[in-house]
Amino acid sequence: GAQYPKPAKTRIITVSNQKGGVGKTTTTVNLAAALASEGLNVLVVDTDPQGNASTALNVPHGQGTPSVYDALVDERPLDEICVECPDIENLWVVPATIDLAGAEIELVSHDDRAERLAKAVQTHLEGHEQRYDYVFIDCPPSLGLLTLNAFVAAREVLIPIQTEYYALEGLSQLLSNIERIQEALNPDLKISTILLTMNDRRTNLSKQVAEEVRKYFPKETLRTTIPRSVRISEAPSFGQTVITFDKTNSGALAYRMAAKEIADRGTEI
Ligand code: ADP
Ligand code: MG
Repeated sequence: GAQYPKPAKTRIITVSNQKGGVGKTTTTVNLAAALASEGLNVLVVDTDPQGNASTALNVPHGQGTPSVYDALVDERPLDEICVECPDIENLWVVPATIDLAGAEIELVSHDDRAERLAKAVQTHLEGHEQRYDYVFIDCPPSLGLLTLNAFVAAREVLIPIQTEYYALEGLSQLLSNIERIQEALNPDLKISTILLTMNDRRTNLSKQVAEEVRKYFPKETLRTTIPRSVRISEAPSFGQTVITFDKTNSGALAYRMAAKEIADRGTEI
């Protein structure tokens, strides 16, 4: 615990990028596992109907399991939905099931459709017996209503960027979306963290993309980058994060360093 400072206030971080396969879920579960294993209390909210974060954290998420769907559509309290991660202490999970795929349409007629997750999270933070230090929200690969709910519920956005050729494509769309949300729905939201993922330090392309990202986001981009590692991609099929699956793996070490950087610098960047 002493190495990772506890934030004064619960940090709510949404992990978002409308591109699929850039490392959102991997980043969410591994940062959460790294912080929890240092004694911090962490909640992961899975808002992707695929439920990949739920899989990696080894919590049941078959159709009909109490999930974020019930929180959004039926306003069921998260206290009744949230489960402890069976393998990692101090870590709680709000799972996502495939039911969530229909939630966007079911919510269309509700005036508060963009604020439902924010309300659910706030109520849960007030009522949960253990104070959370971090809440991570894993987003689906789109800028639809589920991601909008995540942006309204959070104070910070973490954008994982894969260091490859098309990395910056679509980024301006994401940024203008965030700006609109800041103006209309959540003035407290800020992009606090950019994390370069699946980095291959040997290639010039990776270097160029990393340089470009750091030029646009000099303060936000973490010094730590996440290397490409087969062990990272193997861990979920064992219902694990790489943090628990292979402690000495380069990817596990990198995610621990990234978590420490996030904890050390706090919300003021
Ligand atoms: P997203 O949630 O953005 O769709 P994922 O986190 O699911 O992305 O990652 C996409 C795929 O890439 C997954 O199969 C995952 O295991 C793999 N992956 C993610 N990060 C790494 C990495 N650093 N090294 C190797 N494979 C990775
Ligand atoms: Mg994902």
